[in-house]
Amino acid sequence: MPQTQRLIPLVKLNAPDELAVATGNNASWHCCCERRLPLLGKSGQLKGPSENTCVICPNCEKKYFVAPDGGDYKRAVKVVQLA
Ligand SMILES: [Zn+2]
Repeated sequence: MPQTQRLIPLVKLNAPDELAVATGNNASWHCCCERRLPLLGKSGQLKGPSENTCVICPNCEKKYFVAPDGGDYKRAVKVVQLA
């Protein structure tokens, strides 16, 4: 079966939500900076972000977390901007 491309919310800090795309526990989205390539991350733990599970934009250093669906490292349900 092909890898379904799901649309999930990208919850931003100071702007309206946008969309990210997810397949399995991976998600991809565009940072709000001018970086042309998307960011890519996998889901973390239910308790929330940690140093090892957050994604930092290499261009502007904004920080994101891919939230899992009901259990650690489960499928991605949303991307949250942390800083
Ligand atoms: Zn950025």
